[in-house]
Amino acid sequence: MESVYPSVYRLRHSAGSNGYVVLDGARAAVIDPGLPLGANAVLRELRGAALLDKVTDILVTHSDIDHIGAAPALQAATRARVWLGRDDAGFLDGTRRAATPFRRLLAYWPVSPFEHGLTLLDGGEEPFPGVRAVATPGHTPGHMAFVFREVVFAGDAVLGTSSGFRQLPGFITSDRERARESERLIAELGARWFFPGHGRARDLSSLTRRS
Ligand SMILES: [Zn+2]
Repeated sequence: MESVYPSVYRLRHSAGSNGYVVLDGARAAVIDPGLPLGANAVLRELRGAALLDKVTDILVTHSDIDHIGAAPALQAATRARVWLGRDDAGFLDGTRRAATPFRRLLAYWPVSPFEHGLTLLDGGEEPFPGVRAVATPGHTPGHMAFVFREVVFAGDAVLGTSSGFRQLPGFITSDRERARESERLIAELGARWFFPGHGRARDLSSLTRRS
């Protein structure tokens, strides 16, 4: 694991998206453990860091397989609580239809069941000590960002560029208007560090200085 902020690490071996670990004393939370095919590597990495036994919570920004896919295996190994935005839960059991043709195609790659269930978020909760869930719909209806001190874990709510933010492609965006609102919300959180689901972390203080 790579230290990226006090008490925050980035997983080196998660597949498909950026995975992070937040520590609080004897407890650890994993944010977005990645694709199912990376699950064993993530388990090995956490075990190697003597953290696997400390994982009490798995925070998932949204239900896309490249973020949540390894969570069932990680939960089975740790019995951790898995947190997901309420409005994404229906995609896992097939009761909710995806908003774009590309998303409906993705739905053919199902997420394994959660042996120990899911805990659903509406935004505003503290799923792990010091971590706040922020509803950031648009990419998916139940998308959550997580804020810890000066850090925002943004999932796929928005991507970073050298000069600010940009939207993800429309074919994978459930609601473009809400996605733009969530982009504004993330910009206004006042976070210094932007840790996205894809791409590199960014220091936002340069943006704040310009505005
Ligand atoms: Zn996504």
